[in-house]
Amino acid sequence: MIFGKKTLAIVGGGSIATSVLRQLLDEIMKSDKRCITDVIVFDPNNKVGAGMAYQLDSPSNLLNTRAGTMSPIDDEPDHFVKWLKANPAKWESHFPKIHISEAAFLPRGLFGLYLDDLFLESVERLNSMDVSVQHVEIEIRGMRPTAAGYELQAGSLSYFADAVVLAIGNLHSGEWDHLVQESGYFNSPYPCTDLVNTISPTETVCILGTGLSAIDAVVSLADSGHRGKLIMASRGGRLPSVRGIHNSNYSPGKLSRDAIKDLLHSGNQSFSLTQLYTLLMEEIVAADGLPFDIDSILRPQTGPHRYLDIEVQDATSSNRAWQSVLYGLNESIDLIWHHLNDADKARFEKGFKSQWLAYRVSFPVDNALKLQELIHCDQLSVFGGTKRSWRDEASNSFATSIDDHRLGFRATLYSDSLVNGTGFTADAAKCKSKLVRQILDSGLAAPHPYGGIVVDFHSNELRTQAGTLLPNVYAVGALTAGTHFWTNAMNVNARLAHQVVKNLTQRADREPRSSFLTRLPQAA
Ligand SMILES: Cc1cc2nc3c(=O)[nH]c(=O)nc-3n(C[C@H](O)[C@H](O)[C@H](O)COP(=O)(O)OP(=O)(O)OC[C@H]3O[C@@H](n4cnc5c(N)ncnc54)[C@H](O)[C@@H]3O)c2cc1C
Repeated sequence: MIFGKKTLAIVGGGSIATSVLRQLLDEIMKSDKRCITDVIVFDPNNKVGAGMAYQLDSPSNLLNTRAGTMSPIDDEPDHFVKWLKANPAKWESHFPKIHISEAAFLPRGLFGLYLDDLFLESVERLNSMDVSVQHVEIEIRGMRPTAAGYELQAGSLSYFADAVVLAIGNLHSGEWDHLVQESGYFNSPYPCTDLVNTISPTETVCILGTGLSAIDAVVSLADSGHRGKLIMASRGGRLPSVRGIHNSNYSPGKLSRDAIKDLLHSGNQSFSLTQLYTLLMEEIVAADGLPFDIDSILRPQTGPHRYLDIEVQDATSSNRAWQSVLYGLNESIDLIWHHLNDADKARFEKGFKSQWLAYRVSFPVDNALKLQELIHCDQLSVFGGTKRSWRDEASNSFATSIDDHRLGFRATLYSDSLVNGTGFTADAAKCKSKLVRQILDSGLAAPHPYGGIVVDFHSNELRTQAGTLLPNVYAVGALTAGTHFWTNAMNVNARLAHQVVKNLTQRADREPRSSFLTRLPQAA
């Protein structure tokens, strides 16, 4: 059954766009109604599907999530593993020595091959149901409501759609623009193969950041036979925790979605940090069956080298139930954040967020062992207290000043190359995306104090600066970090994308085209 022509624009062609497309296919098949007749995916890259994080790159860029829970399809958490088993011809030539299991931390590029294939398969199946899908290789720079829907602008070109999903990925900051033109400066570690092919093996390389992206850069260089000195430097100087090899998947009890809803129904309007901390500790004790001493993992005064030694020891010798609990919270983390009281949200952002990140985002032991070996043979040093980096003309190299209180070390470090592995900005107002700047400047979107832009928690529709919802314009992923808190996990994004697809199809199905559009704000 067709209800008139309705066009969905997906801005961005990465893993979330793939998730939206595939789940749209599923919803249309379930309802047997072509509520959307045309899909346009906008992305300036000539290839869509995998996106930035999962592009085919160094095989040492590993997923930090077990294969069995990496899925862009909310209802099918094991879809990736099933695809791997059913389609060896599609990936074995790229990754000949990989052993497939639900528990494995597989290369991110392998997940990318799967996403590419899923995207193409979804397009074919939608086409066979008379839903057209088109990829337009263009960056959308502006959006404007019109009397008939939304106009998406790309320079002198305009495209029109009834509904829009913004899936533009992480927000890039302009903080390092002063270095972008300098030879030897890499504004991102990706693709890591570019680092390996460009940086000479004997150079001193300073990698800004001590998180997962910085680790990808170090391991890729080391695996390629880099012999020069490697430096990792960040403000906090804290490496992520190492993922335990004996951990198993954990479904939360006291912090499950249902348990949180029960607490809310029983009179709690919001939660305090203290309340949540108590529930978290109880959850960890329940998962482990043993008392839990949080100081045994925090070690704030331990320097990064010693910290990594302890982490590797713990990750290989014991069950780290606390990690399983933190990963398990993916199912309810957005709901918990939504109901945390405002004062404690601010307290958390200021005082605890970076610690949370270091513990929640752990990295596989294989790469931890590589880092450990590089440190032990003095090829790699990790510092905190980074102040600034600049091009030093006198030495014809990059200079990075650091003041690491923990190590009692203050110096300016010189390097031949400088790799920016600091990640992204959460602050929409400071990001470089022309589209985000335009929707903020025009009032169509409002910056969220905790990251990205304001979206409705339940529908993911954008909220304008006037406080009204922007009908049929949704965002998923990093752009919604302030509302949903944890948008760095595939399974969380798949759930949110599913919710958007359900809203989109139900609304398009319920409302004939005229009323689907008349709820739009007045055209500017
Ligand atoms: C290095 C890294 C490793 C990660 N590892 C894991 C992991 O192991 N497990 C896990 O669960 N999660 C992981 N994540 C988190 C998460 O899964 C990713 O952030 C996810 O890929 C986000 O997908 P996306 O589609 O939002 O963004 P992307 O894949 O970045 O895609 C966004 C796309 O939008 C396009 N775009 C941007 N602006 C515009 C515009 N104005 N017009 C048109 N197109 C535009 C870009 O070109 C890009 O292709 C990782 C993230 C990173 C960065």
